[in-house]
Amino acid sequence: MTEQPKDARIFVAGHRGLVGSAIVRRLERDGYTNILTASRDQLDLRDQAAVNYWFRANRPEYVYLVAGTVGGILANSTRPAEFLYDNMMIHATVVEASRLHEVTKLLYLGSSCIYPREAAQPITEDALLTGPLEPTNEPYAIAKIAGIKLCQAYRRQYGCNFISAMPTNLYGPNDNFDLNSSHVLPALIRKFDDARAEGTTEVEVWGSGTPYREFLHVDDLADACLHLMEHYDGDQHVNVGTGLDLTIRDLAETIRDIVHPDATIRFDTSKPDGTPRKQLDVSLLESLGWTHSIPLDQGIRSTYDWYRAQHFATSAA
Ligand code: GDP
Repeated sequence: MTEQPKDARIFVAGHRGLVGSAIVRRLERDGYTNILTASRDQLDLRDQAAVNYWFRANRPEYVYLVAGTVGGILANSTRPAEFLYDNMMIHATVVEASRLHEVTKLLYLGSSCIYPREAAQPITEDALLTGPLEPTNEPYAIAKIAGIKLCQAYRRQYGCNFISAMPTNLYGPNDNFDLNSSHVLPALIRKFDDARAEGTTEVEVWGSGTPYREFLHVDDLADACLHLMEHYDGDQHVNVGTGLDLTIRDLAETIRDIVHPDATIRFDTSKPDGTPRKQLDVSLLESLGWTHSIPLDQGIRSTYDWYRAQHFATSAA
């Protein structure tokens, strides 16, 4: 049990992103007063010397390592070098600086794409490294696996209290809605909203619609991260999800019903499906006392409200 004191110096690496911004919101809501952040122009997390310098100057006691180069299936396939290099470097520099500057505890965030493409469903933590990865996101997955191993190695060799959490597909406020690099859920919100605004009815959904995906609202993820920071000190990485999944077709229909009920869906099978299924087994997390609380349709509605508010603010500016 590691209680983070309310005035502890807490570094959220990657605070502008979907996950980092949710963790900052949550820490602020809970009354933490010393949240440390560094923007990309202030600190290049791929640069070990710069990261060491920043740690020496700011002396974080707790670190949420949630920074990284991320993206959906298209971005992963077209920018493999960036996904591998940026993420390997970012994980390594922050973990090493956390050791050098004696951080009390670090939580590293991976991704459910670390598991083999053909892993038995639902996927338990011990499926890691038991088979070949899904090719469309292999570089990203390799970097994320290296991050888990890094935390375990630092724990074993140096006694650092570094833990790892592996979330399923995430969504929520501050997500990326750019159609070339986004994940499916924000992409579909945008596509249905654009069609509604333009008065068109046909919306294109990539692939066959048959793959299954699991989705967790990022506010639930932030809640799980704080829970693990306080209640978990193990070497084993922990799956974070709802344990519930649905097909891309069902997801598209749910989003359509919320955003543009008159629309029809056309599947573009020239686009990749990616991995057929990656439903997480969340029993370990549940045994640690955590379950999700935001139902998918409610999460989609609130994310759509956020998207509309942003869009309105930008077009009114
Ligand atoms: P993945 O979970 O790593 O495969 O990442 P994505 O969220 O990018 O894709 C999940 C699934 O949604 C894949 O089967 C995609 O083909 C499908 N999909 C359907 N329409 C879209 C879209 O407009 N954008 C994205 N990124 N994926 C889509």
